[in-house]
Amino acid sequence: MSDFDFVIIGGGVTGCALARALAARASSARIALIEKEPEVAAHASGRNSGVVHGGYNQKPGTLKARFCVEGNRRLKEYARSRNVPLAETGILVAARQASERSTLEELLRRGRENGVPGLKLVDGEELRGLEPNAAGAQGLHAPSGASVDPEALVRALAEDARQAGVSLLLGEEVRRLEERRGGFDLRTSRGAHRAKRLVNCAGQYADRIAHQLGAGLSYTIVPFRGEFYYIDDKKAGLIRSMIYSVPDIRYPFLGVHWTRTVHGKVKVGPNAVLALGREAYGTFDVHPGDAVRMALDPRVWRMAASAEFRRLVSQNLRSSLSKREFLRQAFTLVRGAEASDFEKGPSGIRAQLVDRDGKLVDDITIERKGDALHVLNAVSPGLTCCLPFADHLAEEIS
Ligand SMILES: Cc1cc2nc3c(=O)[nH]c(=O)nc-3n(C[C@H](O)[C@H](O)[C@H](O)COP(=O)(O)OP(=O)(O)OC[C@H]3O[C@@H](n4cnc5c(N)ncnc54)[C@H](O)[C@@H]3O)c2cc1C
Repeated sequence: MSDFDFVIIGGGVTGCALARALAARASSARIALIEKEPEVAAHASGRNSGVVHGGYNQKPGTLKARFCVEGNRRLKEYARSRNVPLAETGILVAARQASERSTLEELLRRGRENGVPGLKLVDGEELRGLEPNAAGAQGLHAPSGASVDPEALVRALAEDARQAGVSLLLGEEVRRLEERRGGFDLRTSRGAHRAKRLVNCAGQYADRIAHQLGAGLSYTIVPFRGEFYYIDDKKAGLIRSMIYSVPDIRYPFLGVHWTRTVHGKVKVGPNAVLALGREAYGTFDVHPGDAVRMALDPRVWRMAASAEFRRLVSQNLRSSLSKREFLRQAFTLVRGAEASDFEKGPSGIRAQLVDRDGKLVDDITIERKGDALHVLNAVSPGLTCCLPFADHLAEEIS
């Protein structure tokens, strides 16, 4: 049995950034990070778009808005200082219909209130000056947007934490938790540990960890798979940066977009497919245990009761089952590609928190119970937010 002052569960970007921040604040504390996979960044943190968001999508006043703009600036500084691949290309949101103009203006308003630097509306001519193959008569340009290698970023954060004395316990799954004698007993796949304080950064399992300690009881996590297609390298020159469609701001998903990765690849996606398992990365994957729990959960039933939500689910399911349907959306944003230019790539799973009323929770959600902090909804742009978010968590738990 090992004794720690702090145990962090989960080696994604949230857990690794927190381990680094906590070690910097409490240099003599014994800190462990426990990750069930043999490597860090095995789930959402290594399976995302890798976009360093500008901060114009987030509603002013939310935690996401608070952390995204600062996170964008700090993440770019950090990536430069640690040689994490970074491409500072900017982001373009392209409006394809006149009816989307009001949403662009709302994003501009949000961005200005959130303090996004250099954000501006562009007309069709300026839009094509930035991205010659983009469709659309107007757009919103965020020059601060960038692209990063997410796995390299998480590995760098974990390495900083290790160098600062954090024990990285990889390939070890936390199975049982109990609060006892002013601390926590943890049973894992490899043995037992004791922690004075605990931070749950377990991503798609954060609700189950929290429930064991009597926290987050009104919530459940519903997995939404985000699928991507990669374009053949010979067509990668079609875009220079990131091109997004105008989002439906009622939902936390941004819709299919084109992303130029730091390694010069171009991918389109992600959609948002209701997944039948928290690690159901394949189109036809069903994880019976997760699927049955979802089917029996009243929160999931309440979520499914909205006709608008069912429309979103069936539209995304169609895009999952049909490459033509998936790419139809992508082709309305950028001209010059054909379906035969694309191959399916690895997908990611969004751990979306759903509340008692069946509503998708939009903002980052943290719940404190005693000496444990539970990060229940580290949704997009969680990668962008990681550095200021980690400082916030470190302060809360110290
Ligand atoms: C498709 C997709 C696209 C996205 N695009 C972007 C983007 O472009 N920009 C952006 O800023 N954000 C993006 N995001 C959001 C971002 O990826 C997440 O907000 C972020 O990765 C969440 O990190 P995390 O550390 O909280 O969770 P995770 O990365 O899921 O990490 C949780 C970790 O906990 C571990 N774990 C779980 N249970 C246990 C246990 N019992 N014992 C031990 N370990 C356990 C898991 O193995 C996992 O490694 C995207 C997400 C997805 C899915």
